[in-house]
Amino acid sequence: MPTVVYPGSFNPITFGHANIVERGLKLFNHVVVAIGTSADKDPDIELHDRIELCREALSDFGGHVSVEGFNTLLVEFVRKHDTKFVLRGLRTVTDYDYEFQMLEMNQALDPSIEYVLLPTSNEWSHVSSTRVREIASYGGDVSAFVAPCVVEYYRNLKSD
Ligand code: ADP
Repeated sequence: MPTVVYPGSFNPITFGHANIVERGLKLFNHVVVAIGTSADKDPDIELHDRIELCREALSDFGGHVSVEGFNTLLVEFVRKHDTKFVLRGLRTVTDYDYEFQMLEMNQALDPSIEYVLLPTSNEWSHVSSTRVREIASYGGDVSAFVAPCVVEYYRNLKSD
């Protein structure tokens, strides 16, 4: 199988995201993690830092994963990468509603693109970037949810 684009805010990347990448690689040869900004979420971590943290957190996957920022329509980004597949993860019923709305809009923009929705693994179903940001903002320990580079990022923020 060819390349798949995995879009999201990754604000920051968590073990839940990494699990979707790992399982996506069972279906596709290459995962392009596409980091955008979401209008209804506080960007909080700069795009440049989110990209660097994703690269480091996913470095074990070597050349099978690449990480890029994007600020175009998702369908344009997908076409630019010469693929027809988008990967997303599903945790809750709320995710399900949101994902379906998003994919239906995107399918209206380009019906040739297919969406692969992977259910979360039990281990990470409770993990979200929003909760990680919240815990980290109070100086809590987030090492059970994110890679060491993200823990380090928050540690450095605190000492600044
Ligand atoms: P967005 O703002 O586009 O929802 P996120 O970074 O929050 O971006 O999420 C990107 C994708 O990863 C979404 O499909 C989301 O459902 C999925 N995801 C996030 N956390 C998890 C998790 N713990 N398990 C499985 N999928 C997840």
